[in-house]
Amino acid sequence: MNIHALPSGPIQTNGYLLTDAKRGEAVLIDAPGDILDAIKPILAKEGCKLTELWITHGHWDHTQDAAKVVRATGAKVLAHAADKTLIENPQVMSAFLGGAIKLEPLHVDRWVVQGDKLDALGLEFEVRHVPGHCPGNVLFYVAAVQAAFVGDALFQGSVGRTDLPGGSREVLAKSITTQIYTLPDETTVYAGHGDATTVGAEKKTNPFVRG
Ligand SMILES: [Zn+2]
Ligand SMILES: [Zn+2]
Repeated sequence: MNIHALPSGPIQTNGYLLTDAKRGEAVLIDAPGDILDAIKPILAKEGCKLTELWITHGHWDHTQDAAKVVRATGAKVLAHAADKTLIENPQVMSAFLGGAIKLEPLHVDRWVVQGDKLDALGLEFEVRHVPGHCPGNVLFYVAAVQAAFVGDALFQGSVGRTDLPGGSREVLAKSITTQIYTLPDETTVYAGHGDATTVGAEKKTNPFVRG
């Protein structure tokens, strides 16, 4: 599996395109603005079809291009129901943005829950619910390649903001200690913004939540 980190959109949100050229399949994790233009040449070059779009959480910067990606590729959409309102009624967030960014409603094909196993690219991914930054943040963990895609729960040297509606500092700290810091230390953490890190490095040095 190839992992393409593609920071896109107005606040450089990481979309992650996972591809397997041998199988001709790809999965996209999050759909920030302009991600469709970024993934098209990669899919063409590797001869992959995008089959699924996994949403880590319902904030606009992670879903801005989602409806466009679905129209272009027919990908099935997965997300957690705790962010249903944000995902299905994006005008909630458009209002926040002063109408500056136009958001389309997104149809979700499958609502995932804690502990779900997803089969994709010949690998098994585990869904873990990590609320606190927002109610519906999930991570996708793939043990076979020691990687976790965590949305905005944890960043290199930082954690997700908790001052937005539905955010909670206590809930986020609990999510990080029980759902992320319990993964093997060598697990690479692919966050919604910024560079990748590892579980072990954050447990030792993260100034907000120590292991
Ligand atoms: Zn967010
Ligand atoms: Zn974000």
